[in-house]
Amino acid sequence: MGFNIAIDGPAGAGKSTIARKVAEKLSFIYVDTGAMYRAIGLYMWRNKIDVNDEKTVEEACQKVEVTIEYQDGEQQVLLNGDNVNAYIRNELVGELTSKISTYSVVRNKLLELQRDMAKKGDVLMDGRDIGTNVLPEADLKIYLTADTKVRAQRRYLELQRKGIESDIKEIEEDIIERDLRDMQRKIAPLKKAEDAIELNTSKLDINEVVDIVIDLVQEKRKK
Ligand code: C5P
Repeated sequence: MGFNIAIDGPAGAGKSTIARKVAEKLSFIYVDTGAMYRAIGLYMWRNKIDVNDEKTVEEACQKVEVTIEYQDGEQQVLLNGDNVNAYIRNELVGELTSKISTYSVVRNKLLELQRDMAKKGDVLMDGRDIGTNVLPEADLKIYLTADTKVRAQRRYLELQRKGIESDIKEIEEDIIERDLRDMQRKIAPLKKAEDAIELNTSKLDINEVVDIVIDLVQEKRKK
């Protein structure tokens, strides 16, 4: 069994950026579970499935297969055999994904895949329910947060860098709505695991957070 790190937290707290850097520095496999949910969200969007209707989503899910591959250390998500990495990171898919992630059929589809991934060695997995549900026995659990305004600002700048103009107020509203949905759903809601270490990144830059996480891993490994 390898060493398992679970990182959870709300949208835009910097999870994937930090997870990717930590994994690279420590030679861990990085598993981005949000991308797996997003692949299913993308399927629903492409096939014009009504995501507000659980029964319809349930039926559609029978035609969906999500698998993971690594290319140069980067996780690639395959949707029915096709690499969809380039199509899942946008607001529309994010919004749709947070709706379908409330359904048990969607969550159950991914749970075993995620647990299997964790057995592959030293693994760092990020998402919403990793410390509480997917890997309750993880060696280190981190709950990453940042103030809503800061998260909205970061997202705004990220979009701007990609040449996409957006409205910061709208982004903030979307973030609040998505967090509420993720925290209030019945199955595996987003919450801090009792034994997770909470890190508020509002006043920290990426490298500071990366260093803190690496220190925490090294401390745990000594034990
Ligand atoms: O982290 P990311 O923004 O890619 O996640 C997209 C959505 O997928 C989240 O808003 C959440 O609804 C869902 N998700 C989840 N459980 C996870 C990871 C993501 O429900 N472990």
